[in-house]
Amino acid sequence: MAKAVGIDLGTTNSVVAAIDEGQPWVIPDETGELILPSCVGLNPTGKLLVGWEALRQYAAAPERTVKSIKRQMGADHKTSLGEREYLPQEISAIILRTLKQRAEAALGEEISQAVITVPAYFTDAQRQATKEAGEIAGLEVLQILNEPTAAALTYDFRTEETEKVLVYDLGGGTFDVSIVEITGDVTEVLASHGNNRLGGDDFDRRLQRHLIDVFRQTHGVAVPDDESTQVRLLRAAEQAKIGLSEHAFTTVREPFLASKGKTALHLELELSRQTFEELLEPMLGETLEAIDRALADADLQASDLDRVILVGGSTRIPLVQNLVQEHLGQAPIDSIQPDLCVALGAALQAGVLAGESVDAILVDVIPHSLGIAAAVETPLGPLPGLFSTIIPRNSVIPVSRSEVYSTMVNNQEAVEVEVFQGENPIAKENVPLGAFRIENLPPRPAGGVQLEVHFDFDHNGILTVTATEKGKGQQSSLVVNDAATNRLSSHELKAARAEIESLFELDDGDEQAKVSLSQAELLDQAYSLLDTDTIPPEQAEKLRQVLKQVEAAMSEAAAVSEVAVSEAETISTENHQRLSQLLQELEELLHASGSTMSDEDLD
Ligand code: AMP
Repeated sequence: MAKAVGIDLGTTNSVVAAIDEGQPWVIPDETGELILPSCVGLNPTGKLLVGWEALRQYAAAPERTVKSIKRQMGADHKTSLGEREYLPQEISAIILRTLKQRAEAALGEEISQAVITVPAYFTDAQRQATKEAGEIAGLEVLQILNEPTAAALTYDFRTEETEKVLVYDLGGGTFDVSIVEITGDVTEVLASHGNNRLGGDDFDRRLQRHLIDVFRQTHGVAVPDDESTQVRLLRAAEQAKIGLSEHAFTTVREPFLASKGKTALHLELELSRQTFEELLEPMLGETLEAIDRALADADLQASDLDRVILVGGSTRIPLVQNLVQEHLGQAPIDSIQPDLCVALGAALQAGVLAGESVDAILVDVIPHSLGIAAAVETPLGPLPGLFSTIIPRNSVIPVSRSEVYSTMVNNQEAVEVEVFQGENPIAKENVPLGAFRIENLPPRPAGGVQLEVHFDFDHNGILTVTATEKGKGQQSSLVVNDAATNRLSSHELKAARAEIESLFELDDGDEQAKVSLSQAELLDQAYSLLDTDTIPPEQAEKLRQVLKQVEAAMSEAAAVSEVAVSEAETISTENHQRLSQLLQELEELLHASGSTMSDEDLD
């Protein structure tokens, strides 16, 4: 039987899991790492980097690195990576393919099917793009599953009683809260709310701004606005944030951020958890409001909840745990690692769909109401442009519903069916999903021709709308995602798959694609090679010389900021070229000396 895996395709991190003897487990990479940063890059020679490798080069080469692509899913603008531009689903496909390869290496068999999770709040366009990413990666997507639902599956308590569980999921880039009802083997989502642009990344940026303010107040000089300095600060902010989850204080130290005259300026401060919490708290208010909305939608009080589950790396923040506890009056549980449980739940569901013996059945709901624009009869006459809901939000899926509409004017020849999703009573205020026409209606007085509009929403979140004229039976239909998301044609999917595959082939087989190391890694390697005394004396001498020159060139580069601006630019270009040349020389020397320079060894 073919194995199907569960994939948590996260904004910050992604995880793949599978079922073994009915139990889900997270599949590590060959070094034992469970999490794959959702980061994709190209090194200077065009070699594909995915995960930690890509993340490591982000500070030095943001133009060749893509992070948080999940935030772009569903949009049709491309992201440039090196010399080419890619759709968000193509970048996501690279991450998925890497996880597919990881699973194949660990399980020793080809993996062709997956369940992929998305935030419950994702729109159809975002879900569709996720499905396409799977297809481009060579995976048949068995189901696009809501993340909180997946998490609830792992905490399936198997009691005979019905349990109402609130899942609070705060990750790197998205926030969701869902209320699910578990009865025996059946999990049903009662309500769900969230914000697909709120998460740990925002906390990092808020803290980064704070660090910038502190630096300016301390030194009276602004932090340079260049990308690599900003990226350094962002990384420092994230580290501080993670440190503060365990400790009440943490030290932030970033040397050589700017200079004043001949003096180099450093950022150094002691940050308290309390300061961080004051910055953070306003952003968390929204998550508490979402809890209240979900409770109201499910027609429940906080006291009706049997359990509260925390999901997502950001729920490790003590303030988050405290606020949720205070708000709901009960302590949340987080006994399964909050950043792994979504993938584990996806694996359980993949197991069910692939026919393995896993006892969990799933019922899911639609996150937004679906309907069409229509005129509604009011005491003042018919009012056009209102939103007529056909499938209400939180309906259990798959779901099919129909409504009947009539023509508005005498001898009306055609009807335009405009499909929307959202909750606003004015149709145009909701998200348009597409439109189609039914023409050649028979000549009748107003109200004389009836149209049945049928909505079919399948378990992947794909909506098919069909309008049927009652008399003649003529039909017109629309698969909404095609229109809403510029769904890729099968030809385009094929082309994208070939393109992504060629990137991986370069990765696997191209002997010429040399690993480019960061300056620091190069220097590290050179020094440790000299320490080990394993290279012939002449080569060691040459290495020492080049190292000396590299260091001189690096300190010249550091001194450039003291020269007047226009002059500094030319000097810095020359210096940069010289430095690159020397670094290349160093790299070649290390290669020649047989130093261990494959990327595996750098991990
Ligand atoms: P996820 O999307 O669930 O993988 O969560 C990733 C987010 O969790 C990132 O913003 C991380 O910085 C954040 N994160 C991970 N561990 C911690 C921690 N111990 N404390 C605070 N935030 C964390």
